[in-house]
Formats: sequence, structure tokens, C-alpha cells
Amino acid sequence: MTELAERLRWLRGGAAPVRYTARTIAALTANPGCARRGLLDAAGVDKSALAARLGHPARFGQSRFAITRTLGFENRLKADGYAELLAAVGLAGAEVVTVELTLDIAGLPAALEPDLVILRAGGRLHVVQIKSFAVIDGQAPGDKVAAAARQAAVHVLALRRLGHDTDHEVSLVCPENFSNAPVAHRVDVRRELGVLERQLARLVGVADIAAGLPDGATADDAVATVPARYAPECLAACELAFYCRQEARCAGETDTLGRAVRDALGGIASVGEVTAIAGGAPSTEHPEIAELLVAARELRAGAPVGQPEGDR
Ligand code: SF4
Repeated sequence: MTELAERLRWLRGGAAPVRYTARTIAALTANPGCARRGLLDAAGVDKSALAARLGHPARFGQSRFAITRTLGFENRLKADGYAELLAAVGLAGAEVVTVELTLDIAGLPAALEPDLVILRAGGRLHVVQIKSFAVIDGQAPGDKVAAAARQAAVHVLALRRLGHDTDHEVSLVCPENFSNAPVAHRVDVRRELGVLERQLARLVGVADIAAGLPDGATADDAVATVPARYAPECLAACELAFYCRQEARCAGETDTLGRAVRDALGGIASVGEVTAIAGGAPSTEHPEIAELLVAARELRAGAPVGQPEGDR
């Protein structure tokens, strides 16, 4: 076992690693600058259990009803040698094939959970994702299609990196209207592929982060010492979000205000520094931002008294 593999095993407390899914990789690349998540995911730490142990359990995931509905729909599509799925996708001569998927994440090969169907048609592979959201009157919900497209792009990229000629159009197979009958929705994921490749390239190197930990460091030690990069988007994408939000709030980080505000503040890291500069404290590092903050404070001070805050 390599030294890195041994360190990652300590982080898991000796438990078997949690496998990556396309959803977790898509979420990981949504915050490529977060060293904490990069390390914990590379180690395969069960972040849900860790968050609960830290007193800030994750609050997202499918309801029991949604899980049952998804499983029922999947079982229907997989019955009789995927007959209904093949009919819905409508690719001539397509057959279902099995490929063990791996993808290099932050310098380490990661096995992917096979939560997709891969078809071979005309010598090319085609990614199919079974989704439980309904397509109503030919319209699929945009946010759900966008999330599914990001996940499908992970599969397409993994297949291509393994050397398979793979279609950039994927099929999302969903229930149609209010029935359980399947309908296929084609999505071009070239844009998502470009974003994914760029974000994967930006992921913080896991070996370097792990090397900075003392021998025998656990996941709890890693949370305490490896820096995070909290953003409100974490709430929908990472099991540790409530812990990291609390930590960022206690430290008064501008990250808690969202990326747009943080960027508008030109990289000033703390809310305390922002209010001090707005109050007239000198700032040699951020003179333009300081001017804007002082002007904003004066505008606010000049707003009519008694007007509700939201209307000012
Ligand atoms: S919740 Fe915390 S660990 Fe997860 S991505 Fe956000 S900052 Fe990183």
C-alpha cells in the first residue's frame, strides 16, 4: 500500500471507501477550490456520517417516496432485457453493454458507481440516464435536466478517457406526463464536458493535502485542519454544508454572502473588515472597493428614516 493510500485509509477509519457517483463528481467540480472536500472525497469518507458526528447532519437527498418511485421506474425499464428503454431511446441496432468506469480525480483513479445504462449503436457508445422527474407535455424541468446533463457529462468523459468513442448527445429517460410510460429526452452535453474538464483540472491535488496531515489523522482531524471554501451553493451539493456554513459564519467570512457578493468585494475575506472599511478605516490593499463601500454607507445613511429596510 502506498503512503498516500495508507493516509486515506486512516481518514476513513479503516472503513471501505464510499464510491464516487456521477452526482458526487458533478458536485465536487462545482467547488474545485475546496481542499477539504477534495481530500475527503478522494479518501472515500462517508461525509453524511461525518456531518452527523459533527452535529450538523446533511439535509438533502431524495424522500422515501421518490426513491420508491425511481426504483419502480428503473425496474420497469430494465425488465425483458431493457426492452422498454431501448424502444424509448430509439437507436437502431442498439445493445446494452457493461463498462467498468473510472475517472482520475485530483490525481487519483476513482471507480464510478455504475448508475447509468450504456448502449452501443453503430460502433459508438451512448449514455442513457434513467430519471424519475416527469416530462409533461414534452417539457422537462430545466433545473433537473441541467443537473442530469452535468452527471451524464461525467459518464461521457469517463468513457472517452477509457478510449471509447462516445456520443456527446445523451438520453434522459423519464416518465411521461402522469404515467410510468418512458419517454427519452436527448441532451447535448458538449458545454458541460468543457466545464467539467476545466474544473477537474483545477481540483486541488490530494497527495499534497494529505502529505500535510500528521500520521494517523482521522476525518475529524482533516475537517479541523484542512481549509474549506464555503459558498451557499454547498447547501445543495455537499453533506458537510451545515458544518462549513457554521464555521464560515463564526469566522465572519464574506464567503457566506455568496460568490457574487464576495467577488464584488474584491477578495476582502472578512465581514468585519468590510464594515470597518465602509466606516472609514484606511485600506491600502483595496482602495477602489473602499471608495465604493464608503459611498454605499453614505447612501444608506441618507435613506429616508422610517422606510422599511428592504425598500431602501
Ligand atoms: S460544504 Fe464544506 S467541504 Fe463541502 S464543498 Fe462546501 S466548503 Fe467544501
